[in-house]
Amino acid sequence: MDGCIFCKIASGQIPSKKVYEDDSLIAFHDISPKAPVHVVVIPKLHIASTNDLKDIDDSLASHILKQLPKIAEMLNVSNSGYRVVINCGENGGQSVEHLHFHVLGGRILQWPPG
Ligand code: 5GP
Ligand code: ZN
Repeated sequence: MDGCIFCKIASGQIPSKKVYEDDSLIAFHDISPKAPVHVVVIPKLHIASTNDLKDIDDSLASHILKQLPKIAEMLNVSNSGYRVVINCGENGGQSVEHLHFHVLGGRILQWPPG
């Protein structure tokens, strides 16, 4: 998708600090971390948000969900705990219109969020 920052990260056009990659997803450190551990997990396929998920994306969505605990393990937050966040739309605080899962940890996270 032209002009999409995360598509450019997925294709390597924009460099990132990669944590994990497979055929369908990439996980990289957030450029502006909100916690000691803050990784963003994205499908390589451009999907704008959760609102844009289609039936055809079922196996991709399931695959990403199932990789999250493995990525948490790699980041050493599996036992201490972590939070997975998907922001959607303006009120949800989504700033990049390419579906992504934030994995946050490394300290006790406030709940509920502001
Ligand atoms: P959102 O606000 O859309 O839920 O999350 C987008 C996230 O992407 C933000 O936490 C922001 O810091 C991160 N981000 C935006 N641009 C870049 C970039 O070029 N590289 C990396 N690594 N993270 C980015
Ligand atoms: Zn994209």
